Amino acid sequence: MANLSVSDVTVIGGGIVGVCSAIALQEEGFNVELIDRGLETQAASYGNCGLLAVGEIVPISKPGILPKIPKWLSDPKSPLFVRPKDMISQMPWLLRFLWAGRRSKVLEVVEGMTPLLSRAEQDYRALLDAAGLSDKLVNKPNIMAFNSKADIDGDSFTWNLRTSSGFRHRFLDTKDLKAVEPSLSGPITCGLLLEQWLQFSDPGIVRNKLAEFFLSRGGTLRTGSVRNLVVKGGKATAIALEGGEQIGIKRIVLAAGAWSGKLARDIGVRVPLAALQGYHHQLPNPNVTVNHAVLYANGGFVLTPMETGLRIGGTIEVAGLDPKPNFKRADIIAEKAKSVLPGLNTSGGKQWMGPRPFLPDTMPVIDKAPNHDNVVMAFGHGQVGMTLGATTGRLVADLVAGRRPSLDLAPYRATRFSWKSNVTKPEESNDLIRYPPY
Ligand SMILES: Cc1cc2nc3c(=O)[nH]c(=O)nc-3n(C[C@H](O)[C@H](O)[C@H](O)COP(=O)(O)OP(=O)(O)OC[C@H]3O[C@@H](n4cnc5c(N)ncnc54)[C@H](O)[C@@H]3O)c2cc1C
Repeated sequence: MANLSVSDVTVIGGGIVGVCSAIALQEEGFNVELIDRGLETQAASYGNCGLLAVGEIVPISKPGILPKIPKWLSDPKSPLFVRPKDMISQMPWLLRFLWAGRRSKVLEVVEGMTPLLSRAEQDYRALLDAAGLSDKLVNKPNIMAFNSKADIDGDSFTWNLRTSSGFRHRFLDTKDLKAVEPSLSGPITCGLLLEQWLQFSDPGIVRNKLAEFFLSRGGTLRTGSVRNLVVKGGKATAIALEGGEQIGIKRIVLAAGAWSGKLARDIGVRVPLAALQGYHHQLPNPNVTVNHAVLYANGGFVLTPMETGLRIGGTIEVAGLDPKPNFKRADIIAEKAKSVLPGLNTSGGKQWMGPRPFLPDTMPVIDKAPNHDNVVMAFGHGQVGMTLGATTGRLVADLVAGRRPSLDLAPYRATRFSWKSNVTKPEESNDLIRYPPY
């Protein structure tokens, strides 16, 4: 028998997107319950590189990527790797991802991502100030380091798009770079100062502190794993947890990161959501000083000085939703980091793997569920989900409140992936039936 919840809105997923949405909904006056499996250290919001990557408007799949693919696929040390056993099952997604890298589509994506990312800092500042956490956004720009200026010039497509969209960068020659990051050496000769990009002091701490803020304002947190959404009479009516308990709902926000695809399917929405695994190596005593977050373009990793130590993070591994970690990927980036940071102490480091929720065009879904007026979807933020937490929360609140959203959400609709409708009539739930995995 359903345990009728008193919550006005039930948010599924306590990553940064779910927590920010829950707080924004509280601000609207809603009584909000957040449900999470309680494995927050597996969430991408815990282990990411912590960048407020506001200029990340150009997708990874872009003109020029195709010739690099064969090398990437055959080299386990490359920044993007597909586990051989997953090659066939992931091929349809990979082909869509590559197809989204055509010039016309990339320009469309840039147009879609720019308004979202342009307001990310402003939305976070408002949220963090309200929560008394303004010091968690570190007021230092990011640096992108390169082996040669030719590497920058070779990607003028990206840099020109960033500049024309309002994201400024400044060239740093060897001397300039040495002045701001004296520890960097090895093959690195120059860099770009990414003026508007910032960093969080530690993304996992930010997420946890925001969750505490949500609770302090009367929100409730339920630890449980959502098995499926219950649909009756063509309407989402409840949430079924693993173990059988059902929670009655009025409205749902689906924000379960890379795990959202199966639950979206319960309400008849099929989205090509992949889990692109990333890794980090967290060093409590790195023995070198890194002043800014440094994206090392040639190495395919990011160095972020955090309040918990130096994080070396990055790499993309296509290996399905819940694979066993292959911590060799984390070791590889730690080894690469040693080559540009002489004296780096990796002992005592902790390794981590977690999934980026990724749609082929690199844009999120922020949308009301078609045919289910009481469900809002907010997932698929790819490599910029940490950056877009606060902004997504505000947009989710607009949708749930039935207000015209403060920006045009057409680029982020769930139905964009098919020339014919990817929305099907959901099956009516039999409480005892578990849906097959997506
Ligand atoms: C290595 C790496 C580096 C990155 N660096 C950056 C960066 O520098 N800047 C940036 O902006 N982004 C970065 N990202 C991307 C960013 O981390 C993600 O886009 C973002 O964290 C996604 O947030 P989310 O809330 O949607 O999902 P998640 O953080 O994954 O949270 C989803 C939550 O849903 C819960 N959940 C899932 N299924 C269920 C269920 N059935 N029942 C109950 N609960 C459920 C999970 O337990 C989890 O807590 C990086 C990602 C990786 C992997």
